[in-house]
Amino acid sequence: KSRNNHEPEFLQAVQEVAETVIPYIVNHDIYHGKNILLRMVEPERQISFRVSWVDDKGEIQVNRGYRIQMNSAIGPYKGGLRFHPSVNASILKFLAFEQVFKNSLTTLPMGGGKGGSDFDPKGKSDNEIMRFCHAFMSELCKHIGHNTDVPAGDIGVGGREIGYMFGMYKKLKNSFTGVLTGKGATWGGSLIRPEATGYGDVYFAQNMLATKGDSFEGKTVVVSGSGNVAQYATEKATQLGGKVVTLSDSSGYIYDAEGINAEKLAHVMEIKNVRRGRINEYVEKYPNAKFVAGERPWSVNCDVALPCATQNELNGDEAKLLVKNGCICVAEGANMPSTPEAIHEFQKANILFAPGKASNAGGVATSGLEMSQNSLRLSWTREEVDEKLKQIMKDIHASCVQYGTKEDGSVDYITGANIAGFVKVADAMLAQGVV
Ligand code: NDP
Repeated sequence: KSRNNHEPEFLQAVQEVAETVIPYIVNHDIYHGKNILLRMVEPERQISFRVSWVDDKGEIQVNRGYRIQMNSAIGPYKGGLRFHPSVNASILKFLAFEQVFKNSLTTLPMGGGKGGSDFDPKGKSDNEIMRFCHAFMSELCKHIGHNTDVPAGDIGVGGREIGYMFGMYKKLKNSFTGVLTGKGATWGGSLIRPEATGYGDVYFAQNMLATKGDSFEGKTVVVSGSGNVAQYATEKATQLGGKVVTLSDSSGYIYDAEGINAEKLAHVMEIKNVRRGRINEYVEKYPNAKFVAGERPWSVNCDVALPCATQNELNGDEAKLLVKNGCICVAEGANMPSTPEAIHEFQKANILFAPGKASNAGGVATSGLEMSQNSLRLSWTREEVDEKLKQIMKDIHASCVQYGTKEDGSVDYITGANIAGFVKVADAMLAQGVV
């Protein structure tokens, strides 16, 4: 801990894993005396670099770029790039650490990593975004490769940014390889990748509800965020018969009691993905909805909650409120959106709760499928990829049940996900010796 005590998010993520995995290590002789968790919390490599670029006024800007290569025991490092002013080493290390377990859970051969920059994409022109992405990749390209480290998108990094970064990588290396995932469908991208994290989150919740003989049909659903994950979680929950009544961004949330149907969601996508505007613009077109400035959506009555914005966006008091208002299922679309106090409230109430490393793993799983298609130089159909995604989410759910079922028959999905993710990586590390 002393080595990392200036990194609160990283410590939070490690503590949650340690609390569930240490008892498992104690009960299994093969891990004794191997310092396996101590090795897992130290990144194999951590890179920090200068990104200088020229803005539209001709001024030189400087940002900091990072790549955390956390663990490659079961495959090349894999994990997203985040562009957001809050990015620092602690946040990326927590994300990279979570990614190791998540990628292990997907059943695909991927190690864990994460990266990004404190660059703020808000208000930047398309040309500024391109120049930044090119400058960022001119350094990152020295550290990645399709068999070494394969980054993807995350907050602030979508199809546009992946395109600019891929273009620069290809130019510098004179080689067309699947070095990034989330690419466009005509140049190596996988169908369903944009949808995969949100869809996968809902598929996971569907599996959880099924353990109670329940489904999304007729459920009121509260979603936070309005980016990539939130949009497709909304789409799938609606397709399965749920009514999504909220979306949010860092300025507040919108509440639409009539539900955000396909037509309204298309408008959200236009606001967020094309115009790059704010969620409050929703109420200009749909005046029956209301915008609540500066607040998060957790006080709204619901059956299912899908936090899909960012880390620590749902605290203990908000969790209490959700439970009191009838919420029976929470499936994290974002990474670590619930604080430890919130998780405690969900566990106390014994409601269905899935940690992001299990329920949002559909995104990276489909990135893994993109890597397979790139290696084969083939493209699978939407239906094929969606079927594989559904099966992977079902398998992750089954792993959580296998390792997380309690004596009373209920499932602790946190313990289940942590142990299932740990076993595969730890066993690979043991087999490979002290390296
Ligand atoms: P986007 O950039 O597409 O959207 C992020 C959304 O979250 C926006 O609505 C944004 O609002 C909001 N948000 C971001 N930071 C904050 C903040 N500090 N406070 C309040 N709201 C905030 O990102 P994604 O949808 O891709 O990612 C969302 C979450 O899902 C992240 O935790 C990410 O790590 C996780 N995730 C994403 C995967 C993917 O495939 N994309 C895979 C697995 C997990 P605003 O526009 O105001 O900033």
